[in-house]
Amino acid sequence: MGKDKFLIIVHFLATGIVRWHKNYINSGKTYPYPDDVQFGLDKLACYSLTKNLEFPRNIPEAVQWFHQPLQTWPQVLENLLPFATEEALMIDNMPTDLCYELALEGDVEQELMEGLLVQVLNLCQEQGKNEDYVRFRRFIIENPILDRAKLIRWSNNLQNGVAARLLQDAYEDLPAGALGPEGKYYQCPHCGWILEWKNESEGRCIHQQCTEKTNNFKKRKVLAGTGLVRLKRGIMRFIAWPGRWELKLESDLLKLHHGLKVDLWPGFDSYDLRLTFPTGEVWGIDVKDWRNPYLLAKKAGVFPPYPVWDKAFWIIPDYQWRRYSHYGQEFGRFHKLGSNEFIESLGGFRRRVQRLLEVE
Ligand SMILES: [Zn+2]
Repeated sequence: MGKDKFLIIVHFLATGIVRWHKNYINSGKTYPYPDDVQFGLDKLACYSLTKNLEFPRNIPEAVQWFHQPLQTWPQVLENLLPFATEEALMIDNMPTDLCYELALEGDVEQELMEGLLVQVLNLCQEQGKNEDYVRFRRFIIENPILDRAKLIRWSNNLQNGVAARLLQDAYEDLPAGALGPEGKYYQCPHCGWILEWKNESEGRCIHQQCTEKTNNFKKRKVLAGTGLVRLKRGIMRFIAWPGRWELKLESDLLKLHHGLKVDLWPGFDSYDLRLTFPTGEVWGIDVKDWRNPYLLAKKAGVFPPYPVWDKAFWIIPDYQWRRYSHYGQEFGRFHKLGSNEFIESLGGFRRRVQRLLEVE
């Protein structure tokens, strides 16, 4: 019971940190901090008092705790959470991947996307236009930053579908913090979003992976900067970032064999890709850019049965798959896979498709 109780406290804290970060970014204020943080801290205090464990006594102390690997918290040592805990909840005052994954319960994900994609989905669904939904979503993924003139042209073009006019809600002006060294704007060469700067030498992007892949933004692209807009943070983080894998997989598959048919977000985003082989066999695919197999297993639910498939795959980007030596087994321990359901790395999946095509 103790373990579950403590895990719930961690979920509250993570949810609070994500909301706090969002408000901070939007308003530039650190106060007030969200109820979830206070609630989580109160619960943590009660829990710790009964067990005679240390706990943070005020917000500055709590922020320090959030920056420490979870495994250094005395409560974690006592509970041995069912996932690796060498990560912290925050890094550099931003939520970590672990924090986002712990927080993505209930409404937080939708809240972070500003509800926009839900609105687009509903509109396309009312009109029975799955292809318009696909066009909208693809545009967002392919254009993390763009010229305002192009944005206006695209959204005013009736040929871009029933949701095109909502596109402008996905974007915002570049924030003041985007002006970087030498008074210039820079694009992250890893994900294509705009970098923000704490000072001349400390850049940041949307994901920890960007920092790693660019050698702390020593690699970066200079931008002209005038008339540019960027995707809003939540849409970048939860639509465009994982969407890069979905489009990459689509293009990889289409290159493998001209007879393969790939549908993106079929059945109004029931899952991510639907692959039809020349033989007529159909595979359903959901790409999950999750760091933690345990948290993914808890969130994954049943693979959507429609549009129908013969086999279904949870696909994990290679960089996440490699972090855990037994990602697939860990997932399988907490999520029972049906006989036609599989979990696989993106590279492994591509090879599996290739093998099947060679046999045919
Ligand atoms: Zn980036």
